[in-house]
Amino acid sequence: MKVILKNLTKKFQSYNKTGKSEVIAVNDFDFEIPDGKLIGLLGPSGCGKSTTLNLISGLEKPTSGQIFFGEDDVTNLPPENRGVGLVFQNYALYPHLTVRQNIYFPLENLKGKEKLSKEEMEKRVVNAAKMVQIDELMDRKPGELSGGQQQRVAIARALVKMPKVLLLDEPLSNLDARLRLQTREEIRRIQHETKVTTIFVTHDQEEAMSISDMIVVMKDGVVHQIGKPQDVYDHPVNLFVAKFLGTPPINVFTGKVAGGKLIIGTEEVMELSGVEDQEVYVGIRPEGFILQEDGPLSCDLKGVEVTGRDTTVVSTSAACLNTEIRSIMNAEIKVDAAQKCVRFALNPNKVKLFSAQTEKSIEFKAVRG
Ligand code: ADP
Ligand code: MG
Repeated sequence: MKVILKNLTKKFQSYNKTGKSEVIAVNDFDFEIPDGKLIGLLGPSGCGKSTTLNLISGLEKPTSGQIFFGEDDVTNLPPENRGVGLVFQNYALYPHLTVRQNIYFPLENLKGKEKLSKEEMEKRVVNAAKMVQIDELMDRKPGELSGGQQQRVAIARALVKMPKVLLLDEPLSNLDARLRLQTREEIRRIQHETKVTTIFVTHDQEEAMSISDMIVVMKDGVVHQIGKPQDVYDHPVNLFVAKFLGTPPINVFTGKVAGGKLIIGTEEVMELSGVEDQEVYVGIRPEGFILQEDGPLSCDLKGVEVTGRDTTVVSTSAACLNTEIRSIMNAEIKVDAAQKCVRFALNPNKVKLFSAQTEKSIEFKAVRG
């Protein structure tokens, strides 16, 4: 089932010492979530992710705009008639019910023509439990399960009604690091198997990037960019998106373009074409630095971190806005940690330019010298 948001806006009134003010939690969202895909809604805390999900589920009413499921306008439908499955961060299982009873619960509450026979309910409950691999734990109570297992039960409970749309609001946040990795792969698998259109909310860029077919990057109630994770990483539309995606983060320098040269500090680091002279932010991905004795960009070496898989050169520069520059090298490259200064050449594909005024991305062509 595709989901279409049309000029969707949600404003909240808030009251503080200085009086009434208005928060635009969701500002004119206008995009389509394709059928059968997993979409990551991504952005910092408070950017409107949960509000967006609550509008789609019907828990919140929009201030203006519309929501469609396929051809149907569901904007004014109550949540129970929308056919959505919901999973939250805190599992929200009934503690006094067993796993089986928890998964049964939404089916027992179906009324009228939606009501199912006992056999059909049993079949659905067993299928949902198998899908999330908790069918061995059916008679336990939530208190006897790990966090990861509880979240599986919550997912089974959301799936048992065979929702048209599955909505997950930071479902992994309460899990420890290892379970978080494992459970996100599980969610990916379940989504692949059920093909239910899924919207996955997270503030964790790595989580969103790793499992989503498409990510929607938001800030302060505004959508900044929508696209495949790799495309958004490679072609961020602005400095915010560039900084939000990637670990370690992109290294941002102040610089300028003058006469077809990109200048950081006093050093000409690259020749380029197609850009007017102007002040810029230069974003360099950690994998974009090439150690080179006569490289044009010089930085002060602070340390070398060897992980086995790769080597991180940690350095600083007065022109860099990050407190330290982290550049990642192939582990075979040996770095003399005793030297004071390191010099880099840059891989132009890993260099992003942004207007110092608008912070919007600037297209350029690198000129090979
Ligand atoms: P996120 O899930 O991305 O952290 P939310 O959607 O919860 O963000 O919140 C978006 C903005 O709307 C925040 O500024 C938040 O304070 C505000 N907000 C959310 N719900 C309410 C509410 N019921 N009343 C007033 N303001 C709210
Ligand atoms: Mg939230």
